[in-house]
Amino acid sequence: MSHVFPRHTKSNLPTVARGEGVYLYDTTGKQYFDGSGGAAVSCLGHGDPDVTNAIKKQLDAVAFAHTSFFTSDPAEQLADKLIEHAPDGIDRVYLVSGGSEAMEAALKLARQYFVEIGQPQRCHIIARRQSYHGNTLGALATGGNEWRRAPFSPLLVETTHISPCFEYRGKHDDETTLDYGLRVANELETEILRLGEDSVIAFVAEPVVGATAGAVPAVEGYFKRIREICDQYGVLLILDEVMCGMGRTGKIFASEHEGIHPDIVAVAKGLGAGYQPIGAMLCSAKIYAAIEDGSGFFQHGHTYVGHPTACAAALAVLTKLTDGGLVERCAAKGDLLQAALQNTFAQHPNVGDIRGRGLFRGIELVEDRESKRPFSPERRLHATLKKEAFNAGLICYPMGGTIDGKQGDHILLAPPFILDDNHIDEIVTKLQIALVKSL
Ligand code: PMP
Repeated sequence: MSHVFPRHTKSNLPTVARGEGVYLYDTTGKQYFDGSGGAAVSCLGHGDPDVTNAIKKQLDAVAFAHTSFFTSDPAEQLADKLIEHAPDGIDRVYLVSGGSEAMEAALKLARQYFVEIGQPQRCHIIARRQSYHGNTLGALATGGNEWRRAPFSPLLVETTHISPCFEYRGKHDDETTLDYGLRVANELETEILRLGEDSVIAFVAEPVVGATAGAVPAVEGYFKRIREICDQYGVLLILDEVMCGMGRTGKIFASEHEGIHPDIVAVAKGLGAGYQPIGAMLCSAKIYAAIEDGSGFFQHGHTYVGHPTACAAALAVLTKLTDGGLVERCAAKGDLLQAALQNTFAQHPNVGDIRGRGLFRGIELVEDRESKRPFSPERRLHATLKKEAFNAGLICYPMGGTIDGKQGDHILLAPPFILDDNHIDEIVTKLQIALVKSL
């Protein structure tokens, strides 16, 4: 009997034995194409020697030293490199162990910023429905996924949620895409005014929504309007790029597609590419200065902040992404993947939408294309698809999301950036097999 506490107590999972390139192998020798990079994590694939060597070198030098006593070369170099590629105005990096921790740090820093500058009355966070920001209590409170929140609701600080920007589900037939984007962005202003003009700390959003919706980018103009509203009311803009960041959308930061600059941004997953657990919260010079000129101390911290071995891994990953041309490769292969998905599935009677950016792609399945009616949640199509794809040797990340009470089934694809054109064919072929078996 296993003593590991699994995700689902009734699951009977194969045991992973090794990974090589885009493939994982279990102990029976079965090969799986890592079509979702786990959960958009393994951007370099498996067994990358540059990253494993960087980790070994750091382990030989020093595995860990606590940040209340030391900084380390890998942490310093990683922060420098992140800032070199970060959106304008972003100036400091706080290194943590994962996505939820990065979001917790972001939320707490945003609140402390207003305490430091003498606006302690600001106490509200606004986020969006159909969003996921992590599983710790603060991050969970910010996320708008009802199913994940429900059992813990008495423990969650109050956060209000406005509509997501989800063209396929939200746009009315009689409005333009641009008008739709402005309409949903303007909900932020309405909510700020409802809560009190000077009472909001931050607005939180994923530039491309991942886990709850299946790679949904906002429409053009949406984030520009959001930025304007934040500036008008002195509200900080926190972007959660935990899933969509680190090159996944074809740009190192997903916000680059939007032409806007956040005040705080969280990254994780692709930062360590699965080689080490690591995340980062990056903030603007203005926010850092408020802490520096105020108490001089960010009232936060975890034992493994700035972990040298994790930082060494992330530095090697980031170097490959930026200097090794892998972000550009992700953009190019992403276009090919989208085209292949369109060619194969666009006419399928149960495929409602194929979307995303770079190697971050989502397919939404519907019972009826015309009315966009989803399959009944009881059918758990996403779970069947996951199983059939896995049997066919393809790992994809399916989910049943909810939006305004409607249930939709999605598949998320987020393969390693190193994939070649044959691998794209392999994804599509295996997905086709899984779809036929599931429907
Ligand atoms: N934010 C987003 C957008 C995510 O997708 C996730 C993880 N799926 C998180 C935060 C939480 O990250 P972690 O699981 O590393 O804590």
